[in-house]
Amino acid sequence: MISVSIEGVVKRFGAVTALNGIDLRIEPGELFFLLGPSGCGKTTLLRCIAGFYLPEEGCIRFGDDDVTHLPPHKRNTGMMFQSYALWPHLSVAGNVAFGLEERRVPKAEIRDRVKAALASVKMAAYADRKINQLSGGQQQRVALARALVIQPRCLLLDEPLSNLDARLRLEMRAEIRRACKENGLTAIYVTHDQKEALSIADRLAILDGGKIAQVGPPREVYRRPVSRLVADFIGETNFLPGELVEVDDDKARVRTAHGEFTGFLTDDSWHPAAGEKVVVSVRPESWRLEKVDDYAPTINSVKGRLGRATYLGELAQYDFKPSAAGADELKMFELNPRHVPGRGDDDLMAVTDAEDVVVLRGGES
Ligand code: ATP
Repeated sequence: MISVSIEGVVKRFGAVTALNGIDLRIEPGELFFLLGPSGCGKTTLLRCIAGFYLPEEGCIRFGDDDVTHLPPHKRNTGMMFQSYALWPHLSVAGNVAFGLEERRVPKAEIRDRVKAALASVKMAAYADRKINQLSGGQQQRVALARALVIQPRCLLLDEPLSNLDARLRLEMRAEIRRACKENGLTAIYVTHDQKEALSIADRLAILDGGKIAQVGPPREVYRRPVSRLVADFIGETNFLPGELVEVDDDKARVRTAHGEFTGFLTDDSWHPAAGEKVVVSVRPESWRLEKVDDYAPTINSVKGRLGRATYLGELAQYDFKPSAAGADELKMFELNPRHVPGRGDDDLMAVTDAEDVVVLRGGES
């Protein structure tokens, strides 16, 4: 197992700076995801790590080895990309053996290693099949076996599951995690699929415009985003613009058109003062609807009525129209909805907990 360190990496394509000073350390055996809006530099970073691009500045280390100037075939990385790039004229075993034959591994050892790699992706029974006799999911398993069999120093995955249907994606993402952990592999995974990342990543990085916007375990990035961009990119959220009333350590009280909120300050480098323009972020699933009564809370709660309701199976989505003038509609989710109410004429209180509220820098779009 090795760590992968990216130190001050800058990569330009003509006038475009695709990576603008990236610093990251991926720990040995970690399954690490790169996420971010289209064009943020994910693929470019992965290609720098694989050796297909030479950065203009900075260095990349595998453990203590500086691999920045090493060509791809000398880095010993396993790769799994969106297009399987399997050889259609070779059998399953032939495809998996290919990388070992290129490395002139002895025949008997190749046989054993191919067998073990196919067993580890549950494809041992298909060793003699031709690639075009396999389903998409099976082909992807072969691609994974082919990446694992060379015993790579790290595994690089670029949208490996995007050609698969939803069910197979679910199955394969669990397989990929299991294979990485069983083989003790350091793996770096690029995807557009947040669920894929949230469900199997040890940690993830959100990139924005060639820079790191946030790094952390999935739960931390989802629950404690440090910027409006991250909160908006991962999952869905409601942004309530407001003005800071007071700060108490890592908590802040904010006045908004929806009412007063207390929540967490998540960006350690930001020390806002009372009066500063901020934005409150509350995820749609963080609200609960209560009757309006004398005991209704006065903070972290919004009075209003239900608007459009959409039943989505495991959850229902509601538009909630606040009574207060100038307060935008809120989006709310209810998990396991047994009964989905229609538009309501009765006032309700939408309530959230400070634990689920994040206070972010205002002024960003
Ligand atoms: P996506 O999610 O759309 O795949 P990405 O985050 O992987 O995007 P990159 O492919 O790394 O983004 O691209 C980062 C930036 O660098 C973009 O502005 C892109 O247009 C530019 N870029 C990438 N490759 C090249 C290239 N070979 N030549 C010129 N510009 C490039």
